[in-house]
Amino acid sequence: MPETTFNGNSVPELFGSNCFSNAVMRERLPKNIYKEILAVQAGEKELTLEVADVVAAVMRDWALEKGATHYTHWFHPLTGLTAEKHDSFIAPTSDGKVLMEFSGKELIKGEPDASSFPSGGLRATFEARGYTAWDVTSPAFLKQDPTGTTLCIPTAFIGYYGHALDKKVPLLRSMDALSKQAMRILRALGNTTSKRVLTTVGPEQEYFLVDKKYFDERPDLLLTGRTLFGSMPAKGQEMEDHYFGAIKERVAAFMRELNIELWKVGVLAKTQHNEVAPNQFEIAPIFSTTNVAVDANQLVMETIKKVARRHGMEALLHEKPFAGVNGSGKHNNWSLGTDDGINLLDPGENPESNARFLLFAAAVIEAVDRYALLLRSSAATAGNDHRLGANEAPPAIISIYLGNALTEIFENIAEGKPLTGSSVKGKITLGVTSLPALPRDVSDRNRTSPFAFTGNKFEFRMVGSSQSIATPNTYLNVAVAQVLSEFADKLEKASDKHAAIQELVKESYSKHRRVVFNGNGYSEEWVREAERRGLPNVRATVDALPVLVQKETVDLFERHKVLSKEELESRYHIYLERYSKQINIEAGLMVEMSKRAIFPAATSYAAELARDAASLAALGAVSAPQEKRAKRIAELASELYDETEKLEKILAEAQDISDPFAQAKAYREKVFVQMANVRSKADALEKLVAKSAWPYPSYEELLFKL
Ligand code: ADP
Ligand code: MG
Repeated sequence: MPETTFNGNSVPELFGSNCFSNAVMRERLPKNIYKEILAVQAGEKELTLEVADVVAAVMRDWALEKGATHYTHWFHPLTGLTAEKHDSFIAPTSDGKVLMEFSGKELIKGEPDASSFPSGGLRATFEARGYTAWDVTSPAFLKQDPTGTTLCIPTAFIGYYGHALDKKVPLLRSMDALSKQAMRILRALGNTTSKRVLTTVGPEQEYFLVDKKYFDERPDLLLTGRTLFGSMPAKGQEMEDHYFGAIKERVAAFMRELNIELWKVGVLAKTQHNEVAPNQFEIAPIFSTTNVAVDANQLVMETIKKVARRHGMEALLHEKPFAGVNGSGKHNNWSLGTDDGINLLDPGENPESNARFLLFAAAVIEAVDRYALLLRSSAATAGNDHRLGANEAPPAIISIYLGNALTEIFENIAEGKPLTGSSVKGKITLGVTSLPALPRDVSDRNRTSPFAFTGNKFEFRMVGSSQSIATPNTYLNVAVAQVLSEFADKLEKASDKHAAIQELVKESYSKHRRVVFNGNGYSEEWVREAERRGLPNVRATVDALPVLVQKETVDLFERHKVLSKEELESRYHIYLERYSKQINIEAGLMVEMSKRAIFPAATSYAAELARDAASLAALGAVSAPQEKRAKRIAELASELYDETEKLEKILAEAQDISDPFAQAKAYREKVFVQMANVRSKADALEKLVAKSAWPYPSYEELLFKL
């Protein structure tokens, strides 16, 4: 078993040892400088170069003590991954030696060559300049690997003219927007103590592990992250024996090291377990402020992959690596809290907190209904298309699970009826009478809802496992900010606040209750019912993306200063292009695998069987089965050949389309559809050809052998 690097340290000693956290800053920075940093983090002050110089020097010393030789501005380009360019700390002296230097300027601003990152037309390639700016609210950390130790500084990535080129800038802007509107509500409700409202997120991350030796023999896993071929083995996930099952020793050793690595950089890794599909697992952290959670989740994904390799495994973060068993998602647990510790989505125990809760919950419900398309688009990727609205996955309909108790409360408010329940008597006036205690939903209530209320937070479950959670949270924040702003407009004017809350909740819920659904979200009836309710069901990414450039969206984002029209358009184009490129790679590889490996293997095997049949016949032995099977394989191989040729032709046609939307449409409606035809022939062949003659490891090896 590979050794883990506890080095005799306890977990509290280990935790954050590679993280330049506030605790480290408090200890090492001069008091006045630390205070300045806190004010900058709280958005109360601008960072000055003098302060940055002091922090940079302290950060450098800290990093050098821990063996760092390089630093990097770590950022989130629109690829959905993170990017880094390493610079060493060396600075030459006049006598031919070097010093290790790091200035405030280098800390707060970097200028990576930005030309190769997607900009969607915001930045022509000849105007390659973009810069990265330190995000003071997310702690710097050290990455240690065999090549050395690097100081990573979380940064935002901005174009020369101030355009957002990454996922962090709009996220930070959306957090500000939400805070501003939520604070208006809190002030109107008489809160005088809270200063800010923060969104908090705890993302549950699902992934698969496969043995590296099988992975290496699957070009599809290597190049696309999912299997393009593979017939189901006799056993799948039907026995339900994997979920929460005992963790295999090899996996447990991996998880142990994963936790240690994450703890070292200050990620609050908390929960781990086997997931539903074979060889599928989950890790969940304790929640934190959204932008810290986003950075942490990127680290989680990266670290899962890195540590898996050390254990002779590959981690698959793709949303649907295998047909026939569950895909992987990322459950984005999301809530709203004040800087002084009030969870605004917690019903609480007194009339005041009940009223506040109902108001904020109503705002979320309304936002999810009104901006369902936007939220849907935040989870739209080629990979997630296999999960949402495909034949073996949840539908792409956005609905909210509230649970029966809360639904009844909202329904009664909407109908102006007295609330039922032992602790409420008579007609409720919000803010005066207490709600019946809401059951704090234990365990798994409803796993089929894409947006579920879970006691003191909402869980957005549509997000794909390989995605950055920045975008879903950005859209969610903006949508809720808009509804809160409308609520605040009314509330601020009202003289009788209780009556106003009552009216707001009533009006909002009556209008948006159609989005609430507590039943089985995976059932056929729900798809029909949702259609009757007029809820959108957008199955494909290409159809989910255009909402980004619709007038209503542009107005929304511009009003809250989160993204401009230009920035939205650039994102729309980047996402369309990424979608097309992804399918293009998959289809190209499919042709390659089919023609150069599967077809030859199948035909050789058929010929071998035919030769066997002839030899057997010469002996006067039974040869009919060999002959029959050889014929069937030859037939299927010929069909595979035809379908593959057809795919090649369709692919070439799609590649020739120049309009990005029309092209993405062709990839979805022609290429993607034809890929299924190629696959079905190959998978049928896999069942007929001898295992020893098949060119690729099977699902059995990939899913069960660890
Ligand atoms: P449940 O089992 O009800 O889903 P857990 O406590 O297991 O609840 O939490 C699941 C995830 O939700 C964890 O990552 C957790 O940190 C996160 N979470 C809990 N409370 C909040 C909150 N207020 N805001 C955001 N995420 C939260
Ligand atoms: Mg959960």
